[in-house]
Amino acid sequence: MIQRFVTLCALALILLAAPAAADSPTLIVSEFTNNFRKNLLFRVEAQSASAPITRVELLVQIEGAPSRSRLAAAFVPGAQVRAAYEWNLARDYLPPGARGQFWWEIQDRAGNQVHSPPQTFRVEDQTRAWKRVANDKLAVHWYAGSDRIITFDPRAAFFSFGASVGFGCVALIASALAWLMRRRRAWLIVCSVVALSAGGSAYRFADELPRAARPANFGQALLEHGLYSLEFLERDTGIAIERQIQLYVYGDRDDFFAALEPGAKEWTGGRAFPSSNVILIDIAPDSLEWGKRAVAHEITHLVIHQKIRSPLGELSLPPLIDEGLAVYYESPGAPEPQFAASLQRAIRDDTLISLRALTRAFSADPQIANLSYAQSYSVVDFILRRYGRDKMTQLLQAFKQGGFYDDILIQVLGADLDDLEAAWRKEIGAKPRALPTRARETPTPFPTFSLSTDATPTRGR
Ligand SMILES: [Zn+2]
Repeated sequence: MIQRFVTLCALALILLAAPAAADSPTLIVSEFTNNFRKNLLFRVEAQSASAPITRVELLVQIEGAPSRSRLAAAFVPGAQVRAAYEWNLARDYLPPGARGQFWWEIQDRAGNQVHSPPQTFRVEDQTRAWKRVANDKLAVHWYAGSDRIITFDPRAAFFSFGASVGFGCVALIASALAWLMRRRRAWLIVCSVVALSAGGSAYRFADELPRAARPANFGQALLEHGLYSLEFLERDTGIAIERQIQLYVYGDRDDFFAALEPGAKEWTGGRAFPSSNVILIDIAPDSLEWGKRAVAHEITHLVIHQKIRSPLGELSLPPLIDEGLAVYYESPGAPEPQFAASLQRAIRDDTLISLRALTRAFSADPQIANLSYAQSYSVVDFILRRYGRDKMTQLLQAFKQGGFYDDILIQVLGADLDDLEAAWRKEIGAKPRALPTRARETPTPFPTFSLSTDATPTRGR
């Protein structure tokens, strides 16, 4: 269903419009209509008493974008005009949750101008009945998945069970000692204490159990895992998220692809849009565990990109590092078995992809993409173990400054990409690369105003 947002009425516009000369054009109405995934429609009506209106321009500032867009609206010049600008989302894609401001600049033939006050807008996917759970750091929007999921917290179960057993044991030892010392009265007292404490422990355990295995809804479970990942990342990298992350969970692959920009790779399971602070993920209601990893993966992209964001916009980070870190933080120290198997096979068959190839977008072929993720994870894990966390932080800082990848690596690690590959291959037990891959003429990261990072693969789906 298409909803219309008449964001400001005529009266409000006249009252709020920037001060203008008495004979400046007057705004009558300004509207924003969200027709995601087709377009965003901006419309304005204005009149001028002194001369025909000859210029109507729309200014749009997307939140997180380095610059504003100045766009010419379509209209017929005259004393009273209706102008419109259609933002084609197939050409200039924006994800659901992206926000911005817009305002109009209108001028008549005599040179009189009026600027409308800025209005905010937000892109929304209105094809789904979204539910939402949020705190100040993360908002989860979802529409499929149960409202009653049992989430089992092993730590809570362990402590509550452990406390009950421990309490019972102490009472039992005391009663045994009293019996051994043949003190009947004491034995009776201890027996009563044992009975009471056993009852108390059982009651306590029964009371704790629901907390260890309590029902939550699908969105809540993802929110909790997302916040846990965020907390871990903030502690481990020292990067605190500045804006609330908007996470949209699609429960169906077709719905997900219908919401993504055209041309997304077939194996895409999730996508982060760092400048908009938005994540879209396809999580089927029965894939909650995969979904949790995917949430951690995409949140890592947002946190890392926030670290390397510059006033010029997003800088390109080689997928080798970007995806490697995202897989690493899905579950530190425990990569998904699918990746480990893929890596082991490639080591055995001597079919590892060169690290230089992993500084470019990953293949559309799902098998090669899978190995690309597996290798990226392995290299990031190697850098963290061999050089330490501080060097990884320095590496990200250097990528933010820009330059050739080889120069950045030499500057921070004292090794170029080929040296790094040789050391990494040796450590994982792979054969040395037969041919060097060095190609210094390949220029790399200069500010590229990329809207999104590479996608997350669907796994085991
Ligand atoms: Zn990724």
